[in-house]
Amino acid sequence: MAPVRCPFCRENDDKVVDSRAGEDGAAIRRRRECLACGRRFTTYERIDELGVMVGKRDGTHEPFDREKLRNGIEHAATGRLDEHAIESLAAEIEEQLRTEGGEIGSDRIGVTVLERLRALDHVAYLRFASVYKGFEDLADFEREVVELQKTTEPKRRQPS
Ligand SMILES: [Zn+2]
Repeated sequence: MAPVRCPFCRENDDKVVDSRAGEDGAAIRRRRECLACGRRFTTYERIDELGVMVGKRDGTHEPFDREKLRNGIEHAATGRLDEHAIESLAAEIEEQLRTEGGEIGSDRIGVTVLERLRALDHVAYLRFASVYKGFEDLADFEREVVELQKTTEPKRRQPS
């Protein structure tokens, strides 16, 4: 995404303090704070123009790849969630990432998937976590299962 120039001091270093869909749902309204002068301003971006870039751990960038996300979810959710549920989960996560906008760390995507799977299916969650968090032995799984049991059982989402 092109850097946004502060209308007050012309610097293009800002952080997004609030993002929400515009009234017609076709634009995202972002409240930004200039990191140079501290003043706030608002931008509007059309949703279909939002390119999401993924920043990887090694410092390189690549465009967000929906297919890659879907494959990762599918790998973890095979036999647990049906094709439709996997597809809509990938779409929802993509939508969420686009709404947050800007550049997204690859870690952020992993955490978002984990949060969603955790609410949907604990087996798929554990499978995804084992790859994403690099589980090495049974103790890692046991720790994660204990964590899952601590939280109240979330409501199962109905596939739409
Ligand atoms: Zn400024």
